[in-house]
Amino acid sequence: MSRFGHLILPLLAVLLSSCNGVNPMVQSWSTRLPNSEGLPQVTPLQLYQEIGIKVDLLPKGRVGRMGWRMDPEYITIHSTQNFSSGATAFQHALGMKRGSFRAHKRPGGNRTGYLTWHFTVQQNAAVQHLPTREQGEHADFTGPGNRTSIGIEMCENKGNDLAWTVDRTARLAAYLMYVYRLPLNRVVPHYHWPRYGTSPLHKDCPHFLLNNGKPGATWNWFLSRVNMHYSRIVPGPVASI
Ligand SMILES: [Zn+2]
Repeated sequence: MSRFGHLILPLLAVLLSSCNGVNPMVQSWSTRLPNSEGLPQVTPLQLYQEIGIKVDLLPKGRVGRMGWRMDPEYITIHSTQNFSSGATAFQHALGMKRGSFRAHKRPGGNRTGYLTWHFTVQQNAAVQHLPTREQGEHADFTGPGNRTSIGIEMCENKGNDLAWTVDRTARLAAYLMYVYRLPLNRVVPHYHWPRYGTSPLHKDCPHFLLNNGKPGATWNWFLSRVNMHYSRIVPGPVASI
């Protein structure tokens, strides 16, 4: 290495990070969100507390809560694409309980007549709608995304800080990885699951974490945040979820 190597390498790192393909909006979040040096190690229960989960389950046997059992193998990340200011996690919880998210039930398509998922996350809270050992209806109709994955929606409503919403979602995904002993590659975007009979086959969801509608550098940035939070965990008991 030249005698200037100690100057050139950090410069190179800066140049590479500015053109690494991460969505510029997402890239700017890195300066606001804490990094691993700024965060303490946590027991699983402490991480659970950090996420701030409010349990508000759907009524059993109603509005799409079928009680179909699931052994979670994946964690599927979505975003609501609802930009109106009232579209908070709590409003989604209320809407889901009231049966507002109707869907057209058909063979090979929606199985329940409703859209359901497990968690909705906003900047300062996460609401749980379904037990994680029950199937939701959020990914791919009769496919493995619905039958084997926990669905997490991220709020995009006006006034909600997306950076902190994404960070809270990363903590939730890390916690679920720990509880169900899942590796990082089991955290997938909705895009991952083909929806046979629809066009496009792969949904551009969560759109702001994809590059041109596909997982790329921005998605990898998100996974690195999940991994950072997962790496903070020291072994311990878990809360049933
Ligand atoms: Zn989705």
